[in-house]
Amino acid sequence: MNILIVEDDRSVANLIAATLRSSDYHYQIAQNGKEAILQAASHAPDIILLDLGLPDIDGVEVIESVRGFSQAPIIVISARSEDSDKITALDAGADDYLTKPFSVEELLARLRSTARRLQYVSSDEPASPLFVNGVLQIDRDAQEVTLNGEIIHLTPVEYRLLTLLAQHAGKVLTHSYLMKEIWHCVPDESVKANLRVNMASLRRKIEKSPDARGMIQTHVGIGYRLLKY
Ligand code: CA
Repeated sequence: MNILIVEDDRSVANLIAATLRSSDYHYQIAQNGKEAILQAASHAPDIILLDLGLPDIDGVEVIESVRGFSQAPIIVISARSEDSDKITALDAGADDYLTKPFSVEELLARLRSTARRLQYVSSDEPASPLFVNGVLQIDRDAQEVTLNGEIIHLTPVEYRLLTLLAQHAGKVLTHSYLMKEIWHCVPDESVKANLRVNMASLRRKIEKSPDARGMIQTHVGIGYRLLKY
């Protein structure tokens, strides 16, 4: 597993590097945005850890550039606690985020779950109509969802939400992304309320199975994620 660390703060970069070394990850360090884009292109990293506040170009610009040639998962690392920065980064193509200061355990847990997702992406047959995630199974041809082999009944909006989350399993999907995909309109407060209601109902149905508890994560103020099991 090869990881690109993009961080201009030397001490933070060194801490991340030491953490990766101790877990046998390979890594490179880029200290600014332009270097990050070059290294992402030349080294084809498996995962990119990206600080949003860089000295030359904005981290979001880095995401947009990298997404032009690479689908490698991008985990944004940000000191900014404002949700709007994370949302912008996620909508630009980032997969996940960590807020500074973060613990070594948090970083490693995030890398592990991203690696799990990579495995799934690379092994997923695009032609397969079946999505299997633990006890949850979606048959896209039959538009049928089962939990532990038992059919659960979803409304069309709930089904669409679930298939979107499944399609991007492991990635945090923002409220605005989901609203645009489902209602094809300019998101406003009433659409957002609608999303919340539908998502709550979907979660209730999925979490009826104790084995699926926590499968759909809520990221307050940001969005939702289906965890890859
Ligand atoms: Ca920085």
